[in-house]
Amino acid sequence: MTISLNSSRSSEPGCPVLLSRCLRKRAGILILVLILSLATLSVAQSPRVSYEISLTSPDQHLVEVQIILPPGASQRELQLPVWNALYQVRDFSQYINWIHAKDRAGHPLAIRELDKSRWQIQSAESGAVVNYQIYVDSPGPFGAQLNTHHAFFNLAQILMYPIDARTAPIHVHLNQVPAGWRIATPLTSASSSDFDAPDYDRLVDSPLEISDFQESDFDASGGHYRVIIDSDPADYDMAKIVAALHKIVVAATIWMNDRPFDTYTFIYHFPHGPAGGGMEHAYSTAIDLNADMVNKTFGALTGVTAHEFFHLWNVKRIRPQTLEPVDYTKENYTRALWFSEGVTSTAEGTIQLRAGLIDERQYFSELGAQITELERRPAHLTQSAEESSIDAWLEGNAYYRRPERSISYYNKGELLGVMLDLAVREASHGRASLREVLQWMNVNDAQKGRFFDDSNGVQQAAEAVSHADLGWFFTKYVAGTEEIPWNDFLRSVGLRVVQLETAVADPGFSASRNFDGPMSVVAVAPGSEAERAGLQVGDVILELQGKGAGQESRQDMARLSPGDSLTVKVRSRRAGEHELKWKVGGRQEISYELKDLDQITAEQQARRGAWLKGEAQSAPESSQTDRTEAPSTKGTTAK
Ligand SMILES: [Zn+2]
Repeated sequence: MTISLNSSRSSEPGCPVLLSRCLRKRAGILILVLILSLATLSVAQSPRVSYEISLTSPDQHLVEVQIILPPGASQRELQLPVWNALYQVRDFSQYINWIHAKDRAGHPLAIRELDKSRWQIQSAESGAVVNYQIYVDSPGPFGAQLNTHHAFFNLAQILMYPIDARTAPIHVHLNQVPAGWRIATPLTSASSSDFDAPDYDRLVDSPLEISDFQESDFDASGGHYRVIIDSDPADYDMAKIVAALHKIVVAATIWMNDRPFDTYTFIYHFPHGPAGGGMEHAYSTAIDLNADMVNKTFGALTGVTAHEFFHLWNVKRIRPQTLEPVDYTKENYTRALWFSEGVTSTAEGTIQLRAGLIDERQYFSELGAQITELERRPAHLTQSAEESSIDAWLEGNAYYRRPERSISYYNKGELLGVMLDLAVREASHGRASLREVLQWMNVNDAQKGRFFDDSNGVQQAAEAVSHADLGWFFTKYVAGTEEIPWNDFLRSVGLRVVQLETAVADPGFSASRNFDGPMSVVAVAPGSEAERAGLQVGDVILELQGKGAGQESRQDMARLSPGDSLTVKVRSRRAGEHELKWKVGGRQEISYELKDLDQITAEQQARRGAWLKGEAQSAPESSQTDRTEAPSTKGTTAK
């Protein structure tokens, strides 16, 4: 789920020492180059497109947008993206109440709808001013929302772009910002309410939080980090969060041996009630977590944060060709989400291990849970990781999320990342690992401005660092649906998978959520108590045991025992909101756990040690050494 970017690297080759002499020596050449490039710029640079976003009516969730188009062609077209943030078509144009256009002198111009998300203006040769009103009340990191508490915008969901000037530089002005609210965004700011972006793609990769948020900034290993939290300060401990973020950013930048930004912004919301999810951007992330989870399950916050932060490389800069250039008008199919999302989850685990936020036992237990999740879905034998990536565009549909219909590219992708890591180690006799694969793609693709060729590009990188043929891995487990022989992979690190059959509570139904959307019932077991109580497929679950249904419901359900009574508040198509009650049944269920082999050799032990550190056992010839300097920390400042 995401949008494009052009990586701008902060570390330029230059004159690190003797700067003044170096500058003098180069001054003459510099001036010449400057004159030449200014001359080229004035020809190549398209005129700026200006946007004014007015927070017209927070209580009615209404935003008014004005777009000022510079002089150009007489006939111009404007497009509002049909998708953004999630790989799902959501048709944001459904929220546009009205639109009109005039010329720069204020005379009305004809504006005509071409399709549901595209408009055409005539006689715009001397420029045009387009105004429209849009309703924005979709909460969470994948949405756009204005209410009396705050505004949070993924700008692609509210701003149209001129089709002939998507690459033009952009200026944005925010208007009618309520007193006491400030604006946080990774965009460059000209003033507290004016921002600039080099083009539309970068603009819409930069979310805006507008409210009376709390901010705490810190510096680590040369990077500047902003932590923006818009929530009740009683619900979180800023110092604890900042300390964890510090560990994550240091662990990740050292692991990748790269920091392709100067400033990175974390934006958090901790709502009471259903929430959950994070959205990656090239220079920021927006994360929503249920307030209870932040307090009780801090690992949920560090996990999603490590995941979204790692995305600044994987998917934002190490990017599949199939997602470039972004086509905002329709589905963008890619076979690579198992890598871009799933292997980001693999890295999430390694970064947390390296940061000391989880230990080896927690890591093994999480791997066992991921294997259990995959093995329990019958579709793991019918849908490949690549097919699941393509079918991401179906995830908004409840039927598609049924276990017999689909697997998750997050789930299988994370496991493929772990198995690929072990396969690369085996093939290279410990001299390379997943880290070298990722660094190879970062150096050879991302830093050279290239995109990789989906699964083939991953295979190319894995083979380059291991000097071995890994075609079998990609054919069987990435493009194919062969059962993954877990023990064959895990043996090299002295582990095996055991199956445990346990009696578990059976609520008689299964439910799923579309990212941070509501929980809906996808299957009801025939003859079950749930069916007798009246539960139906399609019912939306509002509460479970008196608690709002959301992220933490899975853990709550896991705590039930056979015979316990279950109270569920649902909203159904025919009966509206009502409460159902029944006794949960029991069933035998297989789960998977990682166990030590009876005999572990010194070699397996050494391989395991390197694997859990995310490092190769001995450095391959081409690898760079770690930057081991202690990261500097300036005191955190609450603003
Ligand atoms: Zn992700």
